[in-house]
Amino acid sequence: MTDCGKMIVVSGPSGAGKSTVLSRVMAADRSIVFSVSATTRKPREGEREGVNYFFTDQAGFCKMIENGELLEYAQYVENHYGTPRTPVEENLKKGLSVLFDIEVQGAMQLKSLCPEAILIFVIPPDFSQIENRLRARGTDSEKKILQRIKTARFEYSMAMNYDYIVINDDPDSAANEIKSIITAEKCRARNRQNYLTEVCSL
Ligand code: ADP
Ligand code: 5GP
Repeated sequence: MTDCGKMIVVSGPSGAGKSTVLSRVMAADRSIVFSVSATTRKPREGEREGVNYFFTDQAGFCKMIENGELLEYAQYVENHYGTPRTPVEENLKKGLSVLFDIEVQGAMQLKSLCPEAILIFVIPPDFSQIENRLRARGTDSEKKILQRIKTARFEYSMAMNYDYIVINDDPDSAANEIKSIITAEKCRARNRQNYLTEVCSL
């Protein structure tokens, strides 16, 4: 008997530390695969095609939408981001859990498509850390940093639509909290009914 794969949707303001924390969650659990998104954003130094994102232009992104290739998509600041449908469906079919790092509009789309998805919102211990961390990361222009901070205010207003809020003060502790959430969700009685059918007729 095996547990079914879960959809684990993580959002939070840019600079909250989502990528940092999620890489630690995945390093610890081979049954969790990352949903690699498509984006019109230009690659940052060190980002790899097919690993961090599928990088495309606006025309390529529109084609994906027209062909029904995206499970959800949204505009974030000045770019488009979307989740390719096929890898998600295939991985869930294999019983793997799929981890999404997506912004709030996309997360709400996934929640309406799949109400059983687990929604986690990641934030730093205080709002000012967003600016500090974005500056420390050094990947965005001044204009982009200000746009991302402005968007963060809207994102915070959506946090209560999530199932869990994780405070990323320390990346290891935040990763442990996310691992605990995933474990608890797997242990829900409704997710373990398949272990009972042999004995009880449900
Ligand atoms: P996001 O994916 O949410 O945009 P990143 O994972 O890229 O955020 O993190 C933004 C910056 O903050 C990076 O430079 C990262 O090293 C740093 N960072 C992540 N977590 C913490 C933390 N708990 N404390 C301090 N800095 C952090
Ligand atoms: P970044 O440019 O920092 O990589 O990502 C910007 C924002 O886009 C982040 O909030 C990230 O979670 C979100 N994002 C990344 N991929 C997707 C996606 O496929 N769909 C949606 N809706 N948002 C995404």
